[in-house]
Parts: sequence; structure tokens; C-alpha cells
Amino acid sequence: MRDAGIDALLVGPGADLHYLTGYRALPLERLTLLVARADGHHRLIVPTLERPRAEAAGTGVELVDVGETDDPYAAVAVALTGSEEGRLAVGDRLWSMFLLGVQGWLPRAQWLRASAVTRQLRMRKSPAEITALRRAAQAIDRVHAAVPSLLRAGRTEAEVGRDIAARIVAEGHSAVNFVIVASGPNGASPHHETGDRTLRDGDAVVVDIGGTLDDYCSDCTRDYVVGAPPIGFVEAHEALEVAQAAACDAVRPGVTAAAVDAVARQRLDDAGYGEHFIHRTGHGIGLEEHEEPYIVAGNELVLEPGMAFSIEPGVYLPGRFGMRIEDIVVVTEDGGERLNTLDRAAVTV
Ligand code: ZN
Ligand code: ZN
Ligand code: ZN
Repeated sequence: MRDAGIDALLVGPGADLHYLTGYRALPLERLTLLVARADGHHRLIVPTLERPRAEAAGTGVELVDVGETDDPYAAVAVALTGSEEGRLAVGDRLWSMFLLGVQGWLPRAQWLRASAVTRQLRMRKSPAEITALRRAAQAIDRVHAAVPSLLRAGRTEAEVGRDIAARIVAEGHSAVNFVIVASGPNGASPHHETGDRTLRDGDAVVVDIGGTLDDYCSDCTRDYVVGAPPIGFVEAHEALEVAQAAACDAVRPGVTAAAVDAVARQRLDDAGYGEHFIHRTGHGIGLEEHEEPYIVAGNELVLEPGMAFSIEPGVYLPGRFGMRIEDIVVVTEDGGERLNTLDRAAVTV
């Protein structure tokens, strides 16, 4: 914070608060706010009824509780005594109703984004965080290994999706974050909502699934085919496997996020599928499913050991089918390690 010239961080419920204090606050209409000061005088302001949960989290931060009829912003102003005209950095996800409330009490402060500080901390994972991400990746790999036994003609996406969700929990996740089962033409929509379509012979099926295990997220995509693959699928999938592997191989300290994206994009361009790769190559992952760093053109961020992100190029042919291969990769001292290790070839069921 001193390096960034910030006097205090104001962080509401969400991953930054969880990261900094261990407290998983509920996103309520009542104010919960960590006031972390550069001089080390930190306070966590919570609604009185949340005090037991905040205490149980063992934050090590002084708790201030605010009753139902008290003004929580007065408590924030007290916590910021001496910094009324300072540089205050606000959590990126703090709801506008709370920010406007705080700003009403501190009209002379300067306002910045807390990610100026928290982004650097959260992007570079500690060994313990990488261990947690690896455990989550291994668990979701076990779910994918069971997917062929769940997919068959005659079942709906939703039926398959429910079974996958149960497996995600059975393999050790505490929460299912999302289950995408996108069959046939639905696969051409990257974030297709699993629905009532019935699987049939000749369908390509994109299965993108993730959950939370010991606070850290898993996220992995594999492709499946029911019966004989649709025309054009095999060639496209070979090109996608090459592109995804090349992008994973390009990961090492010192290269930029944009350069990794460019590797996947170039390979798919060369194979004639460039216009059908309609999203960035990947996103960071940790306490949140999507966080920094984003593996996207224009992001000149230089990769460093400990950064963790997905490499997930895809090819989407509207009206026909889609495909995506996704692994989580961690930057090591001299390269990258894929935490998902299941084979990437499309599996015929
Ligand atoms: Zn996504
Ligand atoms: Zn992803
Ligand atoms: Zn995914």
C-alpha cells in the first residue's frame, strides 16, 4: 500500500476480503467492510448479527459491530480518522450503494481501485494455493473420467448435467460452480445453458465443469462425441488440440499474457478456424473462477512463477457444433505445469 501511495483499503464481501482475512462474509444489504490502513490499524466493520461468524473466521483484525439502527458509515469514518483527505482504494466489487455511502462521509478523499494492491497479491499463488488448485484439478479430472458413463443418446443435457453435478460433490468439492453440457449445435455457444435438448447419435458434446474445493476453484473442459462424429469435427479437433498444446507449451516466466493468447490464435488461424475462436484464450483462477491474469490480446502483463490460469481455446461453428479444450496451467520457475492431466482427445461414447 505504501508503494502504491494508498492510505487505506476498503474491501467489502468477496474474494479479496476472504484472501486478506480468511472471512467469507455474506453479501448482505447491511455493510460489511474491511478498513485496512497503511499504518497497520485495521478494522473489520460488520453488522452485529454477523459478529459470531466474523469471530469464528479468526481474522486477527479488530472487529467493530454495527447495530441494526446505527449508521455504519459513521463507523467507517471513525476507522479512517486521519485519512479523511487521503488516498482510499476501494474493492473492485464493492456495491455502489456502499461506496456512495462512504463517499458521502468523506467528500475530500481521493478514490482509487483496490486492485492496484490486491491484484499483485492474488495473481501470484503461494505453494499452498497451488497445492489447493492441484487438488481441485485432480478432482474435476476424476469427474471428467466418469462423463463417458453418463453421456448417451436419449438422455437430455439436463439429466447428464445433474449427474455430473452430483459427481463434482462426490469427488470432494464443497460447491458446484457451473455445469455446461452443450450438445450438437448448442456447443457453438461457449456458455450454453444446459437444457432440455436430447442427445442423439452424431452429436459433439462440450462439457465444461467446475467447483470449489478447499476454497479454490476447478475448471476443465473436454469434448465428447455420441456415436459417429459430425462432418468436419475430427479435423477441427485435431487443430484445436495442437493449438491448446502449443499455448500451454508457450507458458513460462517472462512471456506476456498476450503472447500466449497469440500462440493459440495463430495455430487456429493457420488451420483455417481463426474466425471461429471467438473468445480470449484464458482467465486466471484461484478463490474465484475468473480472476486476473486474463490471457487475452492486449494484456502485456509479464507472466511470473505462481500465476495460475486456464488455457481454453475453442472452435464454434454456428448451427453445427462447438469444441473447447481447457486445462489450468501454473507458471513454474522455467515453464508451465498443467494441473489437469486427463487426455485431451475427444472421447467417443
Ligand atoms: Zn467461461
Ligand atoms: Zn475457464
Ligand atoms: Zn471452463
